[in-house]
Amino acid sequence: MSGLNANLAKSQIFFSCVKPNMRRIILGILPFDVGKFPFKYLEVPMCITKLFCRDCKQLVEKIKMRVFNWKSKFLSFAGRLHLINVVLTSIHVYWASIFKIHVTTIKEIEKLCRSYLWANVEVVKGKAKASWNNICKHKEYGGLGVKDLRKWNDALLAKHVWNVIKNKNSLWVQCVRRNYIRDRCFWDIKQKKNMNWTWERILEVRKAIRPHVVSCVGNGMNTSLWHDWWHPIGILSAIISTREWVSKGFNDMYLVSDVMVNDHYLWPVEWMNDFPGLRDGPMFCNNADQLDVTVWRDKNGISKHFLSKQDQVKCWEVKGNLLCPFCLVTNDSHDHLFFKCEFSHLIWSHFCNKMDLCISYDDWNELILKLCGFIKGKAVESLVKKIVLASCVAHIWKERNSRLFSNISKLHKEVIFCIEKEVQLKLLGLRKKSIMVNDKDYKNWGIHGRDRRCKDEYKNVDK
Ligand SMILES: [Zn+2]
Repeated sequence: MSGLNANLAKSQIFFSCVKPNMRRIILGILPFDVGKFPFKYLEVPMCITKLFCRDCKQLVEKIKMRVFNWKSKFLSFAGRLHLINVVLTSIHVYWASIFKIHVTTIKEIEKLCRSYLWANVEVVKGKAKASWNNICKHKEYGGLGVKDLRKWNDALLAKHVWNVIKNKNSLWVQCVRRNYIRDRCFWDIKQKKNMNWTWERILEVRKAIRPHVVSCVGNGMNTSLWHDWWHPIGILSAIISTREWVSKGFNDMYLVSDVMVNDHYLWPVEWMNDFPGLRDGPMFCNNADQLDVTVWRDKNGISKHFLSKQDQVKCWEVKGNLLCPFCLVTNDSHDHLFFKCEFSHLIWSHFCNKMDLCISYDDWNELILKLCGFIKGKAVESLVKKIVLASCVAHIWKERNSRLFSNISKLHKEVIFCIEKEVQLKLLGLRKKSIMVNDKDYKNWGIHGRDRRCKDEYKNVDK
């Protein structure tokens, strides 16, 4: 035993579908009071019925408190916008990731944000300079990028749908699978009026994400032939009627692997004319010896794998032949990228010539040791060397990233120019009196009289 005791003042017992007799017996044993719904758990209300707007009052109050305290009163327009975007919507996000929030509550929150943004008061009318719908548009489309609370709520609930589809190993998903889905297909469950309210909301969100969830077929062993979307012509149960497939000897439980023979699909001959395109292979393919994966398909029809970490690492291993973005000949490595590559070599040799340095580079570690020897001490030469070394490494790395990730590339001369500019600025920025940069050094780095005078003026101001 850990020696911890339950705090009786803070603990309550809740009954669900327990007969009065049994209730009395349990209460005789346990020393807790009977609790009533709704109660608060981790700051959100727990109810057995649907969530009413009175249950969300606390959320509105919380937002009101953040908006109308003295600190937020003195913010500029940009500050208010930022507060709305960052703080207020994040308070809402926590609730919205758990419940479908009542429309009235969302309207109330929007009203608060609107009044605060335009007039910095609690309730105001006729001050808005643009409609809230436009404000909620992305900045690219002329809005201010404020989150649309309704859409966010749906998007956050869609995460639960995704977890159910992916059969995530969580208590909630297992509970939903056992009690609500059972042996049915999740996509075919019909919404009914007497359903659990939260479950009904989740089924409602399902419609929006249905066009994006597709199966990437591997061995076909966990993709439903009729109900999952794996075929380029669409979800087969929506195209071929149940009567049709039953008459040909298929049943509801058929998997893709049941019609797949050596990369070919066996369909009844008559269907070839009735359903053109049926002969085609799956929309997305995995290796034939791997399991099928449920993937997200964006509006351009491109699938996005939601891979687990290990799969990602595997991908990296498979694609391990990442080439140097400068020469596209050898693999990308420290040694090669910074010194051995022709591109970096041109940059280094330019600066080595300039500083009368003689560096041979065979090995990264050896080179670092050598350089450490060069840049020892506080003399201005070693300081310049230090600055040049740091600038070169930083700019080569920056150039590599810009080629890899933004597809923008510079010539080696342009990189040299950037490094020289940086060194110039750093030399001009030296403020320590003990470091005396002489005329030769200044000239060597392209700093002439006028720039230095400016620098001297700065020095005088400093004094
Ligand atoms: Zn290279």
